[in-house]
Amino acid sequence: MTLSSASAYEAAAVPDSGDHAIVVGGSMAGLLTARVLIDGYDRVTLLERDPMTDEPVARRGIPQSQHVHVMLEPARIVLNDLFPGYQDEVRDEGALVLDAATELDYFDNGKRLADPASELPMLCASRPLFEQVVRRRVTDSPEIRIRDECQFVDYRSDDDATAVEGVRFRGETGEERTLSADLVVDATGRTSRTHKWLADNGYTSPPTDRVDVDLAYGTVTVDRPSEERRAYFCVPQVGEPKGGVAIPAEGDSWIVTLFGMHGGHPPGDIESYIDFADRLPMSSIADLLRQQEWVSEEVSVYPFPASQWRHYEALDRFPDGLVVTGDAIASFNPIYGQGMSVAALDALQLHHVLSNGAHDIGLRFFDRAETHLEVVWQVAVGGDFQFEETDGPKPFGTDIFNRYLSRLIDTAHDNEQVAEAFYRVLRLEERPTSLFHPRIAARVLLPS
Ligand SMILES: Cc1cc2nc3c(=O)[nH]c(=O)nc-3n(C[C@H](O)[C@H](O)[C@H](O)COP(=O)(O)OP(=O)(O)OC[C@H]3O[C@@H](n4cnc5c(N)ncnc54)[C@H](O)[C@@H]3O)c2cc1C
Repeated sequence: MTLSSASAYEAAAVPDSGDHAIVVGGSMAGLLTARVLIDGYDRVTLLERDPMTDEPVARRGIPQSQHVHVMLEPARIVLNDLFPGYQDEVRDEGALVLDAATELDYFDNGKRLADPASELPMLCASRPLFEQVVRRRVTDSPEIRIRDECQFVDYRSDDDATAVEGVRFRGETGEERTLSADLVVDATGRTSRTHKWLADNGYTSPPTDRVDVDLAYGTVTVDRPSEERRAYFCVPQVGEPKGGVAIPAEGDSWIVTLFGMHGGHPPGDIESYIDFADRLPMSSIADLLRQQEWVSEEVSVYPFPASQWRHYEALDRFPDGLVVTGDAIASFNPIYGQGMSVAALDALQLHHVLSNGAHDIGLRFFDRAETHLEVVWQVAVGGDFQFEETDGPKPFGTDIFNRYLSRLIDTAHDNEQVAEAFYRVLRLEERPTSLFHPRIAARVLLPS
């Protein structure tokens, strides 16, 4: 499933599902989950270990928040459905809505892609701002209580662990407490421990695919003249898996991230960092770093060793009253910018599952989530396997697809329809198979 095949959110469709639900983890996946649960549950409690303020701050629990976060279409659309006016509210705080068709320089296979004829909206802001506006809207819901500075410790279950009935957590003052609920949702990100809990309680732990990319990000913020709106993306190439991205954001800034896979990491000292940008095949990012005033005093570095997918959908048995969502199920090489959109699609799928009742909610949700995770995994992991150092289970047909894609990108340098078809796949609007549509394939495969 991609955005084009997803059924839209419809609040009235959800029947009464219970009295109380708990969401653990107050980042994008947790906040969006809390929002969809209030359609079926009288009360929702969201537990988060960090302090939560109404400020766009980089929290300790989200160490990735200083780095470029591209918002793809599923997140932009679902956020606006769940929180009407979301985009305007983020824009009021200084975010920009670009037309990626004309205001993004996307450099791949040695050249910039042609500008598509159709508009491709792209909401640009820092990750802390994206999250702050969601958090503000969630905080405004009378049915949701956010309990920050609360550390989840364990699930509470019935004697034979067939159902999760609540959580144990360390509260605001450090003492351990329990909280009962009809449903608990794990949105604690990559550090989730649900797979271990399953193994400790007589269940099978989900089989996990891990694809090693040995990626690192290095990020700084520089000043931006307010009339300048361009974004830049330089994609890593075979033989030189390094790239960079610069996104205009609030506060008249550009957030600039340089990245390298398979050991070619961006350095942390400023001089070598700019040298790294000089070696990219696109000069615009190095120009920004040289010509603009730096807001950052240092380069923030973030390692990302591997994409991983815990296949909860492969399990036959799963406790009642428990769901896992967001990065806790799957997290992807961030250069494809998919994580917030996956969190949004997960929330949308949970909404549709609840529309048919809360029975067997975990397994029914995992089955539905697989339909978009499979597409997202194919785009990200498939792309990573163009580098021979990438290690892990390779999806069937990846090499043939990558050969076709390389030819398609060469065609997209000069052909606006092919460029648009490619962008719509990257933006998670359409499935990768849409690139084989005869209208596109003819342009890619036939001599011009
Ligand atoms: C470097 C980098 C760049 C990225 N760039 C992009 C991008 O361009 N576009 C995009 O869409 N996505 C991007 N992502 C992914 C995106 O950040 C995540 O997918 C998104 O935040 C959703 O994750 P999540 O809410 O599932 O988990 P997380 O964001 O990891 O949040 C987990 C939350 O759970 C809390 N928590 C954890 N344990 C406990 C506990 N025991 N008790 C209470 N609370 C707990 C944490 O404090 C945190 O708030 C990027 C990721 C990285 C690493």
